[in-house]
Amino acid sequence: MTEASSTVVLRRVTVVDTRDGSLRSDVDVRADLGVITEVGRDVAHPAGARIVDAPGRYVVPGYNDMHAHPLGRGGDVAATLELMLAHGITGFRQMHGDLNLLRARADGRLRLPEASPALLAMPGPLLTMLNTGTPERAAATVREQVAAGADFVKSAAMTRERFFDAQAEALRLGVPIVGHLPGGIDVLRASRIGMRSIEHFGSGLGVLACCSAEEDAIQRAAGARQRLTLPSVRLPLAEKLAERIMRRVVINPVNLNKAADVDILDHAVRTFDRDHARRLAERFAADGTWHVPTLIRQKTSKLCDDPGFAADPDLRYVAPSARKAWDGAVARFGRFTAGQRETLARSHRYEYELTRIFADSGVRMLVGTDSSGAVWVIPGAALHDEIDLLAEAGLAPLRLLQMLTVDAAEFLAATDTMGTVEPGRNADLVLLDANPVAAAANLHRVVGVVRSGRHYGVQELAAMKDRIAAARSVD
Ligand SMILES: [Zn+2]
Repeated sequence: MTEASSTVVLRRVTVVDTRDGSLRSDVDVRADLGVITEVGRDVAHPAGARIVDAPGRYVVPGYNDMHAHPLGRGGDVAATLELMLAHGITGFRQMHGDLNLLRARADGRLRLPEASPALLAMPGPLLTMLNTGTPERAAATVREQVAAGADFVKSAAMTRERFFDAQAEALRLGVPIVGHLPGGIDVLRASRIGMRSIEHFGSGLGVLACCSAEEDAIQRAAGARQRLTLPSVRLPLAEKLAERIMRRVVINPVNLNKAADVDILDHAVRTFDRDHARRLAERFAADGTWHVPTLIRQKTSKLCDDPGFAADPDLRYVAPSARKAWDGAVARFGRFTAGQRETLARSHRYEYELTRIFADSGVRMLVGTDSSGAVWVIPGAALHDEIDLLAEAGLAPLRLLQMLTVDAAEFLAATDTMGTVEPGRNADLVLLDANPVAAAANLHRVVGVVRSGRHYGVQELAAMKDRIAAARSVD
């Protein structure tokens, strides 16, 4: 989608092998037309090649934000994409779509700016009550999206019955289903039949419900709540309406919780059982069901009025109108009682524990942020927040590097073009000034980005950020 510069050579760098963390020092990395062609000592380069002397810099594949929404939610999309790139993100999985975006992509009309991460995968409109009202409608919606070129379908707010209808149709068509878990759903059944990835621990009660020693009672209560709060209707332009509602909801979905919902969550938290959690993790691992914890999203929504968020210097990248909407979400969050907040905070603490249990049990995971639109989640910067929170959960630096790179490639079945620094892979790279395998914090030390063969130096990256901050200081 972007014009690749012809040849770039990174000289005398240390290449990090994302498969095992081993280092190859003092080598050159050459890329032609956006693809790595050679990695070795003193590689030849044609006259006119862009030479980047970077002795001692560590080269890793570019980072991937595997749960993001930069497209189609209004705002300055180009600036959002550039901000992501300036933070080392060279690829993203777009987590909602619409038929126009899909068709534009299919016809080659969806052109992203040059300074943008690659669009790795995109679904159609979110599956909600509005487009999955009956079994036939659920299947027809999936078929329509797949026909328009959706790479996967994403469940957002639907009943458990319609979830299984949509899942069956997606599997029949050979397209993955990913997303949220409807309240009261048999999670193990969804996983066993084939759910490619569960986002935000299922969001809402999600998988926490299955970690309870009193799971049955909790799931029954959750299933009953779902039916009460979300009526199934069929409307023309249902997806447009759903998207409008979602745009408001996405700022902080936790604010939708009524006292009865928090009570159920509290029940789940009070009866959290590590053995249940471990057994659940083993099943996810065995089923090949991936998880995208988005801890930063969980933290900002469940601890929404934590004063630390309002003091984040990266807020300079947030437009005043968005900031105002976020302040509104914080005010609404203020309606929760002290007891309800404690329940939300405790449920979030268990999400770190779950992340660790998943990691130890061999559950495959990816790094995602849920930017943009989510309260306090700042595109680009949020990926680095997520790295810190995953490290806090106890994940090793190499594991984090893998989740950002080679695991994302594996998830997308794209290891022949991404995930490692080897000939044949896209020249989408990050340069670091410290060894990322030695400490998670070193993953933040981005001193260069290569995107489709175009190199951005550290000053250029800083200038990009400053320019975006200046532009965003007014709406
Ligand atoms: Zn999302």
